[in-house]
Amino acid sequence: MRVRRMNAALAALGLVVLAACSSEAGDDAEGPGATVPVEEDAEFDEGTTMAELAEAGAITIGTKFDQPGFGLVSPGGEPEGFDVEIAKIVAAKLGIAADGIEWVETVSQNREPFLEQGQVDMVVATYTINDDRKEIIDFAGPYYVAGQDIMVAAGNPLGVEGEESLADIRVCSVNGSTPAGYVQENYPEAALTLFDEYSLCAEALKNDQVDAVTTDNVILTSFVAQDPESFELVDNPFTEEPYGIGIPLGDDDFRSFINDVLEESFEDGAWAAAWDATAGAITGAEAPEPPAVDRY
Ligand code: GLU
Repeated sequence: MRVRRMNAALAALGLVVLAACSSEAGDDAEGPGATVPVEEDAEFDEGTTMAELAEAGAITIGTKFDQPGFGLVSPGGEPEGFDVEIAKIVAAKLGIAADGIEWVETVSQNREPFLEQGQVDMVVATYTINDDRKEIIDFAGPYYVAGQDIMVAAGNPLGVEGEESLADIRVCSVNGSTPAGYVQENYPEAALTLFDEYSLCAEALKNDQVDAVTTDNVILTSFVAQDPESFELVDNPFTEEPYGIGIPLGDDDFRSFINDVLEESFEDGAWAAAWDATAGAITGAEAPEPPAVDRY
């Protein structure tokens, strides 16, 4: 599906509008938004992915469609969130405006296959960099570091305090995710339910079909912020989840280019503005210090 920006007038002016269109993430005091100019004369070495994409004026990007704050399809049909804004910054530096981006939903377990099969040019989707995945794809970044945590029903009726509780409760996570892998490896006796999307886990928790949801704290924080009467974060993270931008294996020039773009965005304020307009606006959390890019 191609999802077009609502803000066509601004896109026509050659600007990427970083402020998300929804009232939630848009114009409140904590989410001022910002603009990153689309490169007018982006020039790249012939034969590189950057040259191909710039020439086409189009890029296909995998992201989440059901994760508030990071990648959530708005009622207008277009994804919004921190990952979405990071992806738009990269596209802008390729000379591609927001209306040249085709968004494809990548649930956790689709990310590597979609990159391997060429269905997407890159994936920005709360995607943890790790060695197993690096055998199949490559990562630019990290651009954020999360940690695995646990979300329970408001009031924490079972008194869940941290990861040790996972052995004794009904817990939900997502196929192909690092948090699911962590539970399977460290708490094989856990009653683990796996869905394809975290929103389904949140629904199962709300309906008392599970006792907890486990994944990255920032994903859970946004679910809690949206429905604090139903959910609560245990807030005792137990892993490190550095988020990277997934690209096809071996495309070192593209990886270097994205790393340059990320570092520039850390320095010129675009990264912090993207945070403030999205995950920051939803959760009230200030933009953290950006992590150091790992040019492995
Ligand atoms: N960051 C973890 C991962 O990449 C969990 C979040 C997700 O599934 O997107 O697996």
